[in-house]
Amino acid sequence: IITTFGAALGGAAAVILILLQRNNLSLKARLQHALSQNRLTVEYQPIVDVATGRPVAAEALVRWRENGEWIPPDVFIPVAEKAGLINRLTICVIDHVLSDMAASLDANPDFHISINISAADLFDRHFGALLALRLKEANVANNQIALEITERSTANAADAKEAIERLRSRGHKIYIDDFGTGYSSLAYLGELNVDGIKIDKSFTQTIGTSSVSVSIVPQIIDMARAHGLAIVVEGIETTAQRDYFAALKPKVDGQGWLFGRPASAITIKKALEPVA
Ligand code: C2E
Ligand code: MG
Ligand code: MG
Ligand code: MG
Repeated sequence: IITTFGAALGGAAAVILILLQRNNLSLKARLQHALSQNRLTVEYQPIVDVATGRPVAAEALVRWRENGEWIPPDVFIPVAEKAGLINRLTICVIDHVLSDMAASLDANPDFHISINISAADLFDRHFGALLALRLKEANVANNQIALEITERSTANAADAKEAIERLRSRGHKIYIDDFGTGYSSLAYLGELNVDGIKIDKSFTQTIGTSSVSVSIVPQIIDMARAHGLAIVVEGIETTAQRDYFAALKPKVDGQGWLFGRPASAITIKKALEPVA
C-alpha cells in the first residue's frame, strides 16, 4: 500500500513539476519575446532627503505589461536570471533610463539614478565598460548612475569586493539593496567597501509598532555609520516612520509610498523642475 501510495504521490509531484516547468518555460519564452520587441518599460521612484522631502535621486524599476496584466519584477527577474536573459534586461533598463533621463541628469548634476543589477552583471568583467560607453554616448556622467546589488550576490566576499571595486573606480556609487535580509551581512560590511546600504522595508515597518525588532534599526544605522556608509531607508509609508528617520543626524535618505510611488519618467522630471 505504501509503495502504491508513494508511486501515486510521486506521479502527482511529477505532473505538478511538469506543469511548473511548462509554465516557467512559457514565461521565459514570453520574456525573451518581450525583450526582443523592446516591450519592457521603466518606472522611477523618488529617493528623498527624509528631513526635507527633497528628491536626491530616483530608483529605476523595470516594468512588464502583457495582455493588460502587470507581471511583477519579483516574478520575472528570477526567471531572467536563470534563463541567462538578465544581462540583456539590464542593458534594456539602462537604455530606457538614458533616453528618459539624460537631459534631466545634465540639468541636475547633484541628482542620480539608481539601477538594480544582478550578480551576472556585477561579475561580468565587461559590464563597466559597456555601461561607460552608453553613458558617454548619452553625455551622462558615470557618478550620476548608482548601482544596487543584493546581499546574495556578495556571498563570495573576495570576488564581490573585486567586482565592486572595478565599478567604483569608474565613479559609480554601489549600494547594498534590501540590507538585513541576507546572511552574515553585518560581518561582511566592513570588507566589501560599498558606498551605502538600503535598509529593507521589513525593518522600516517595525517603526511605529510595538514589535521587539524595533531595536534592530538603530543597530543597523549605528553599524553603517561606523563603516562610513550612506543610508537609504526603504518602504517609508507612514508619517510616524518618516518622523523617526527625519530626526536622525547625520541625515538619511529614504524612499517609500509616503514620498512617491514608482511612476513614469514625466512624473519624476516634474518633481525635479524648480518651482516657478
Ligand atoms: P527593490 O530594488 O528593493 O525595489 C524596491 C521595491 O519596493 C519596488 O518593488 C518598489 O515598488 C517597492 N516599494 C517602494 N516603496 C514602497 C513602500 O513604501 N511600501 C512597499 N510595500 N513597497 C514599496 P518592485 O518595483 O515590485 O520591484 C521589486 C524588486 O524587483 C526590486 O526590489 C528589485 O529587487 C527587483 N527589480 C526591479 N527592477 C529591476 C531591474 O531593473 N533589474 C533587476 N535586476 N531587478 C529589478
Ligand atoms: Mg533596488
Ligand atoms: Mg530594496
Ligand atoms: Mg526588494
